[in-house]
Amino acid sequence: MAKRALLTGITGQDGSYLAEHLLGAGYEVWGLVRGQANPRVSRVRTLLQDVRLVRGDLLDQGSLISAVEKVQPDEVYNLGAISFVPMSWEQAELTAEVTGMGVLRMLEAIRVCSGITASRGTAAGQTRFYQASSSEMFGQVRETPQTERTPFHPRSPYGVAKAYGHFLTQNYRESYGMFAVSGILFNHESPRRGAEFVTRKVSLGVARIKLGRSRELRLGNLEARRDWGFAGDFVRAMHLMLTAGEPEDYVIGTGRTHSVRELVEAAFGAAGLDWERYVVTDPGLHRPAEVDLLCADPKKARTQLGWEPTVSFEDLVAMMVESDLRLLAGGGDPGQDSSWP
Ligand code: NDP
Ligand code: GDP
Repeated sequence: MAKRALLTGITGQDGSYLAEHLLGAGYEVWGLVRGQANPRVSRVRTLLQDVRLVRGDLLDQGSLISAVEKVQPDEVYNLGAISFVPMSWEQAELTAEVTGMGVLRMLEAIRVCSGITASRGTAAGQTRFYQASSSEMFGQVRETPQTERTPFHPRSPYGVAKAYGHFLTQNYRESYGMFAVSGILFNHESPRRGAEFVTRKVSLGVARIKLGRSRELRLGNLEARRDWGFAGDFVRAMHLMLTAGEPEDYVIGTGRTHSVRELVEAAFGAAGLDWERYVVTDPGLHRPAEVDLLCADPKKARTQLGWEPTVSFEDLVAMMVESDLRLLAGGGDPGQDSSWP
């Protein structure tokens, strides 16, 4: 019988790539969707016709219990979150509820539906759990590159909420013997990335300028450095972690770091443009507390899971610019809220 996976965050970037990967591996894939007439659900239906949908919300414990009871998943991937760092300052409490407490609610749904208690523990064959942890937990880094043992110092309400979810996942593994793991994923991008994140803001900005629809691109801190990889590579790592022999946490990243300035240079260059003619820096787009430098040491994932990224930074940037040029030329444009930092 096909294995069954339940994904929260199915309407997001990673949800779509992971669903494709799992469908390709022969899984029956279920996606948790929320709200009434959520416009992103129709996109899932078009993009992922074989995914089954179940209603639920990370803010609603009962809905998660019902979803787990209905689907009876072998694997749960908790990708749902308020995932944009600047939004976590504006809506800190909501971020704590969705990105932090949502992890507790999903773990409890699995625990209750599987009849797990501290004294009884977990029987073989019970639901495995993946938590989408983040390199934002490292925040103000004390060592570079960052490994599974690097201490956390989150710099945003988002990072703090992710740290809570991370430790809770570890705690359910230790308290109940659950197969519960966290992937500490560094930034990963694609043509399906939300338009508010810097890579997509840049690729869309370049495409608009190239097609004569805009004359400038306003950005915040150009000196921040990130380890940017391709989302399609990173979802493979999630699946490898959840099907490994032992439940362990892993750092997933490329091991290379680039500044926002280098990103901009590569993206404008991919369209044959000189970035210095178009990019305007705006101090209003700086964050209250910045994460200056992220760079992964993915050695554990390489040696224990056999995971390797396949798409370079340069190819990723070119892929996103080309995709947005095609999208805009075809009449599509996701739009952008220019007040977001
Ligand atoms: P997206 O922002 O693209 O997707 C977020 C998803 O969360 C959406 O499907 C959204 O659904 C869902 N969601 C929001 N609120 C709720 C809620 N109350 N209940 C249920 N679902 C909800 O994120 P990504 O795909 O980029 O990232 C996936 C996960 O990985 C996130 O947890 C993110 O924080 C984490 N992560 C991402 C990294 C990256 O670089 N992409 C790096 C490290 C971690 P809806 O359509 O209903 O709004
Ligand atoms: P994050 O690493 O999860 O916060 O991902 P983002 O893509 O939102 O931001 C990556 C880095 O780009 C951060 O250090 C931001 O400060 C920096 N950055 C500079 N200008 C901008 C901008 O206009 N928008 C966004 N989103 N980030 C920017």
